[in-house]
Amino acid sequence: MPSHREPRERLAKRRATEILDENRISESPVIPEHIAALFPIPLPIESVDGFPPDTYGALYKSGNDFRILISTSCPTEGHRRFTLCHELGHFFLDDHLGALFDGGASAHFSSTSHFRGQRKDWYELEADAFASELLVPTSLAQPLTARHRSGLHVIETLADTFQCSVSCAAIRFAALTDEPAAVIISKDGTVEWAAYSGPLQEFNWTRRRVRGDWAPRGSATRALALDHDAVRSCERRETTGYLSEWFDGSPHVETTEEALGLGSYGRVLTVLTPDRMPSAAAVKAKEDRMARGPDDWRGAMRDWGWDSYEDEDQD
Ligand SMILES: [Zn+2]
Repeated sequence: MPSHREPRERLAKRRATEILDENRISESPVIPEHIAALFPIPLPIESVDGFPPDTYGALYKSGNDFRILISTSCPTEGHRRFTLCHELGHFFLDDHLGALFDGGASAHFSSTSHFRGQRKDWYELEADAFASELLVPTSLAQPLTARHRSGLHVIETLADTFQCSVSCAAIRFAALTDEPAAVIISKDGTVEWAAYSGPLQEFNWTRRRVRGDWAPRGSATRALALDHDAVRSCERRETTGYLSEWFDGSPHVETTEEALGLGSYGRVLTVLTPDRMPSAAAVKAKEDRMARGPDDWRGAMRDWGWDSYEDEDQD
């Protein structure tokens, strides 16, 4: 989603790439502990109890010394590694240490639990962007997404290759794939966030807020979310449905839906891969025509299938 923060998030990613290049790190998985040890004064990393809920990492300042603290209740090794990269971001990115500590604070607790969909401070968004590029570098991950058929399988391959959480891999998949795809994280059937691949970002409906929406009735995601044991044991479900069941204003095109339980993380990952999409221009032309035409154009929109877009594409 474009925002005024985006250029700074891009710079944060570029900084991560520079650090990998400067240190000749070109193999997966990246080991954040090695990067922490590269500082003139190495950054100590400690595991500690007693963090606030959904908070996995902190930076602790004592005089001129810093320590990275990681919560022992971090749900997976992938979350732990992402959190570590996020804390490193606060060191490597401009203005971060000043923003965190100039007011006299001695600790910064990071909110890295799910890094889209909640309001965050600019330095948290930038540290997340830095962490995702450091942990899953574009240069290594893009060839991998291009090599495999789009879908959950690619996300699992990324998570496995880069030793990151499945939710982190899902975001990277959406950012890197050339195919139309949406990834969604939900808890108990309620959407927490969604990310869209480049071909879908052309459409206005992807800019709508989805946090708090329900997974559609009849979806594999809803069925899985109702079965907590299945979520905990990382079961998967697959079905086909329509994109318009998920996103208001999206075209009525058929999509494959894959849903995966995320174990102790307690959430469900959904991957939607529509077979084919009409062009954004075709959808816009159709909407304009409908807005000028029938009174109940919203009702008419709902009944559309692929065929009605195809006419527009051929115009
Ligand atoms: Zn932070």
